[in-house]
Amino acid sequence: MSTIEFSKRQKKIMEIVQQSEPITSEKIASMLEVTRATLRPDLAILTMSGILDARPKVGYFYSGKSQFNLFSEEVKRIKVETMMSLPIVVTEETSVYDAIVTLFLEDVGTIFVASKGYLSGVISRKDFLKSAIGGTDMNKVPVGMVMTRRPNILTIGLKDSVLDAAIKILDHEVDSLPVVEREIVEGKEQLKIIGRISKSNVTKLFVELCKA
Ligand code: ADP
Repeated sequence: MSTIEFSKRQKKIMEIVQQSEPITSEKIASMLEVTRATLRPDLAILTMSGILDARPKVGYFYSGKSQFNLFSEEVKRIKVETMMSLPIVVTEETSVYDAIVTLFLEDVGTIFVASKGYLSGVISRKDFLKSAIGGTDMNKVPVGMVMTRRPNILTIGLKDSVLDAAIKILDHEVDSLPVVEREIVEGKEQLKIIGRISKSNVTKLFVELCKA
């Protein structure tokens, strides 16, 4: 969706319709002191871009949907499950060294950590750098000692919108979120790791929507 730069007259039309809806094209034309024919292309643009709504025999309504509103409505409709990537998961016992190898082989920036099949933590590039600087024996120390641990893990659900995921990613300054499904196991809430949604997924969606 490309952004339209509206002309002065188009902006004036928006104002008039906003104040006097429903209003016919004759009335708009007389207020602007132009002919209906002059207005036709402007009204067509405003209707096609969803800002005005035309109802036969009634006139024009202001629907208030700017390009940005339409864009964000589209983003809100897209669910995490349609955009997510495969999660890369290691167990807590995995050595920091092996996890770094996995990070390179799988070409990801964040690895999720599982214990007994459920999410227990997240380990990112910065965590690995921190442990390297700290002189950790990478072959001996398990990721469980270096990772960010639950309950301090931000997650997202399959049915949540990509916009919610993007807001969480931005607000908390992380690169990715585990996509999870909640399960109650022996009275305790556990998180099954289903996918991964990252800044790259969001950027890709942004580009696709702009091109569409
Ligand atoms: P990087 O370290 O590559 O810049 P992040 O910005 O995602 O990647 O990670 C910064 C810190 O936040 C790390 O300590 C990491 O463990 C933690 N972190 C990453 N993702 C999450 C998440 N979804 N929830 C909670 N903490 C996270």
